[in-house]
Amino acid sequence: SKAQVFDAENKVKITFNDVAGLDEAKEEIAEIVDFLKTPTKYTKLGGKIPKGALLVGPPGTGKTLLAKAVAGEAGVPFFSLSGSDFVEMFVGVGAARVRDLFKQAKEKAPCIIFIDEIDAIGRSRGKGSMPGANDERENTLNSLLVEMDGFATDSGVIILAATNRPDVLDSALLRPGRFDRQISIDKPDIIGREAIFKVHIKDLKKAKDVDPKKLAAQTPGFAGAEIMNVCNEAALIAARNNKPEVTLDDFFSAIDRVIGGLEKKNKIISPEE
Ligand code: ATP
Repeated sequence: SKAQVFDAENKVKITFNDVAGLDEAKEEIAEIVDFLKTPTKYTKLGGKIPKGALLVGPPGTGKTLLAKAVAGEAGVPFFSLSGSDFVEMFVGVGAARVRDLFKQAKEKAPCIIFIDEIDAIGRSRGKGSMPGANDERENTLNSLLVEMDGFATDSGVIILAATNRPDVLDSALLRPGRFDRQISIDKPDIIGREAIFKVHIKDLKKAKDVDPKKLAAQTPGFAGAEIMNVCNEAALIAARNNKPEVTLDDFFSAIDRVIGGLEKKNKIISPEE
């Protein structure tokens, strides 16, 4: 059913306050919030509001969070789908879902459409791995291109898409009038990690020795999603040991555990510059 592929969150509660660090990206994307809130401010001088922006960066760095925050800040509905939902789909289904999504979005405009893992749909045409499956992906990509071209820039629909592989995207997606803006979302530096820790320890019952600076120093290479994991693990470790509050040591144990998990997944933790 439709609900499995995308859902409209009519009330998005996430705002820029929930997104730690990423100051430059927030600044760039704030313009999109303004386009959604006061479009005529821009169009009355003859300018064309961009249709979309591409959020580029490694997994877990907050691309989805930031896209939701745009909807939350602008007070508009958030429609989302993931490129991976389109893998192994029956002929014609992917294209139909894309059309359906745009139809719904236009009815609810102003709004945000978010396409996660757009590289799964938007890989350069004719360069795919599996024949057969490929044709269907091309159909889906073509319908996305047709839909993007088919609505006016003042329709109030803005499409944000996320990828960690901008290099494989079909150049048609990156043409002016489509995803002609790129916003890079990098892994956080030590200052960014401290800020992300602050967000995720806010609601924990923690001991006085818990210092986000120390945690940031112990987690080079971590993305926001891993930091969120660490905070949750720390709370579970403390609870397992029947502690009344989460201590710094619990966080250090959680960091070890998350690093262990990452090593198992064979991810490389890049050294801090
Ligand atoms: P993917 O590419 O794997 O879909 P993503 O870049 O979209 O990842 P999110 O799904 O937004 O990453 O991040 C997962 C979770 O990690 C968020 O819901 C949030 O709890 C936490 N997180 C990530 N980045 C940040 C950040 N900058 N500030 C606060 N929390 C963050």
